[in-house]
Amino acid sequence: MSHVFHRHLKQQYPTAVAGDGPWLIDSQGRRYLDACGGAAVSCLGHSDSEVQEAISEQVQRLAYAHSSFFTTEPMEELADFLVAHAPEGLESVYFVSGGSEAVEAALKMARQYFLEIGQPQRRHVVARRQSYHGNTLGALAAGGNAWRRKPFEPLLLEMSHVSPCYAWRHQWADESEADYVERLAAELEERIEQLGPENVMAFVAEPVVGATLGAVPAVNGYFRRIREICDRHGILLILDEVMCGMGRTGSLFAAEQEGISADLITIAKGLGAGYQPIGATLVSARIRDAIANGSGFFQHGHTYIGHATACAAALAVQQAVQSRGLLARVRTLGEGLNQRLQQRFAEHPHVGDIRGRGLFRGLELVADRDSKAPFDASLNLNGRVKMAAMEQGLMCYPAGGTLDGRQGDHILLAPPFILDESHLDEIVDRLGRAIDQAL
Ligand code: PLP
Repeated sequence: MSHVFHRHLKQQYPTAVAGDGPWLIDSQGRRYLDACGGAAVSCLGHSDSEVQEAISEQVQRLAYAHSSFFTTEPMEELADFLVAHAPEGLESVYFVSGGSEAVEAALKMARQYFLEIGQPQRRHVVARRQSYHGNTLGALAAGGNAWRRKPFEPLLLEMSHVSPCYAWRHQWADESEADYVERLAAELEERIEQLGPENVMAFVAEPVVGATLGAVPAVNGYFRRIREICDRHGILLILDEVMCGMGRTGSLFAAEQEGISADLITIAKGLGAGYQPIGATLVSARIRDAIANGSGFFQHGHTYIGHATACAAALAVQQAVQSRGLLARVRTLGEGLNQRLQQRFAEHPHVGDIRGRGLFRGLELVADRDSKAPFDASLNLNGRVKMAAMEQGLMCYPAGGTLDGRQGDHILLAPPFILDESHLDEIVDRLGRAIDQAL
């Protein structure tokens, strides 16, 4: 019996022993094509020698120094890199060890900002019903993933949730995109009015919704409208790019494609690409200056802030993404993947929608394509697709669980950026077989 407290205690896991580009290999020698990067993490695959060398060099020089005593070269260099490539106005980086920590830091930084500028009454957070921001209690409270929240509801801070921008399900047939955006904007305005604009601290959203909906981008103009509402009421905009950032959608930050910047942006996953655990919160000059010129101290922290080895790994990952032209590759491969998915599932009676950007693609499985009726939750269809895919030697990510109730089973694809075209054929082939086996 394993002494590891695994996620599923009734399930047997294969033992992963090696990585080979986009493949993971288990102790029986079986190979799994990683079409989801675990959870949109492994953007360089599993055996990148440049990153391995960077880690080994850093460990030999200095593995770790506590951030309340020292700064380190890799932490400074990684921050310089991120700020140089970030959307306008984001000028500081607060390093953490993962996505949930990045979201917690963003929420606490927003709160402290308002304390520093003399608006202590601002404490409300507005987020969206179909979203996932992490599993720690603050991040879980912001998220709108009903399944993940349910057992812990009594422990969650009260936060306010509005509709996401999820056109395939919620845009009316006779409504233009612009009108849909206005409907969502009116809902947000109304919520802000109810809470009192002077009491609202932040609006939090994923530019492309990942773990809850499976790669759903907003319609054109939605985020510009959100930005405008936040600005008008002095509310901070926090964009959670933990899953969709770091090149996943074809630009380093997903916000670039929305034509906006944010006050705080959270990143993780693709930042260290799984070679080391690392996340970060990018902070606007306005927030940094308010804290720097006020108390001068952010009252928050973890032991592994800016871990030197993790920063060295992330720097090597990001330099590889730039020097190998991988953002352009994500766009080309992403189109190729989309075309193959559209072709393969065009007539499939249970694939309702195929969406996404770059190498971040989602399929929504439905019982009935015309009515978009979901399968019964008790079938756990997306979980079954995941298991069938593993049998086919493919990893795909089962997304789902929303505060609007069950809305279909979502399959998320987020493969490494280093694939070639033949891998795309294999992904779609194996996925097709897995879906049919699971149904
Ligand atoms: N935010 C988003 C958008 C995510 O998708 C996730 C994880 O899936 C998180 C936050 C939490 O990240 P982590 O699992 O690294 O804590």
